[in-house]
Amino acid sequence: MYGGPKAFFYALSRSRTLKRLASKYGMRTPDSFARRFIAGETVEETIETARSVQAQKLHLTLDYLGESVRTLEEATAATREYVRLLDVIVASGIERNVSLKLTQLGAGVDRATCVDNLRRILEPAGRHGFFVRIDMENSPWTQLTIDIFETLWQQDYRNLGIAVQAALYRTEQDVRRLNELGARVRLVKGAYKEPQTVAYQQKTDVDAAFIRLMRVLLDDGKYPAIATHDPAMLDATLAHARERTLARDRFEFQMLYGIRRDLQGSLAADGYTVRLYIPFGREWFPYFMRRLGERPANLGFVLRGILHERSG
Ligand SMILES: Cc1cc2nc3c(=O)[nH]c(=O)nc-3n(C[C@H](O)[C@H](O)[C@H](O)COP(=O)(O)OP(=O)(O)OC[C@H]3O[C@@H](n4cnc5c(N)ncnc54)[C@H](O)[C@@H]3O)c2cc1C
Repeated sequence: MYGGPKAFFYALSRSRTLKRLASKYGMRTPDSFARRFIAGETVEETIETARSVQAQKLHLTLDYLGESVRTLEEATAATREYVRLLDVIVASGIERNVSLKLTQLGAGVDRATCVDNLRRILEPAGRHGFFVRIDMENSPWTQLTIDIFETLWQQDYRNLGIAVQAALYRTEQDVRRLNELGARVRLVKGAYKEPQTVAYQQKTDVDAAFIRLMRVLLDDGKYPAIATHDPAMLDATLAHARERTLARDRFEFQMLYGIRRDLQGSLAADGYTVRLYIPFGREWFPYFMRRLGERPANLGFVLRGILHERSG
């Protein structure tokens, strides 16, 4: 049951008690359980993590956590935080690459404001040589995300990329369109519980779609990012690249901070570009719950962490 744990953890993610407990204990000390997946609550802490990631010859993209804001004021505040993040990154000298979510910039409140907010980030990002990736959220946002991406692309914002989800039936069509534009695409399996009307429900179907899309992206895409920790997907990608005699700099792998560090290191040691998605910020709970939903075994260390911290 591929969707089972995701649905369960989605329901849990709406529990206020759990959120309160997790938020209180999850990031409290350097050993607290949420720190396995979240670099820090402040930009400054995160820069330190970023430096240690770079020291291991890994690349990075920073994500200021937050999603589904409900007011324009919150969207403006998140936009301001992103602009500040760009300044801190420039001052720190780490790699200039960020990821963001459109619902954090107000997509669910007012589309035009969201586009303006994104432009307010892309302007300084362009001046300072940043690459900005739009994450893909759950399916009610897919069309809007692609539309906004394309609007800005047509306005010549070319320091911009997008993520697509193998789980959705529509993605093959989206990928062909994005390839035609020459856009940089990140391929992921898809982190959200989606209905059968729009998405594959079985892991085998999602995996098969991922491999099909990976091949289309490697063959016709512009510097695609293959984002997965699944050894079968990684092997299929390496095999396809070999078959097509693609140079290692024609694509990159991406993984999440804290997950499968062994694979991150071995691919980097083999000369592949491996980029870590490094999330930070105080609004880490929904992101954290999606990571638990992908691997319920993670729940064990969270519960142990909470018990340990409460008794500590
Ligand atoms: C760089 C990056 C960016 C992403 N951006 C988006 C996005 O924009 N939109 C979106 O919907 N999703 C995004 N995702 C999440 C993605 O959709 C998947 O939910 C997630 O990557 C798990 O799928 P998997 O490909 O690793 O394969 P799975 O089949 O889920 O896992 C394969 C193996 O990876 C390991 N693993 C996977 N997840 C975990 C975990 N949480 N804890 C410990 N081990 C784990 C386990 O060893 C597991 O057996 C992103 C993922 C990455 C790596």
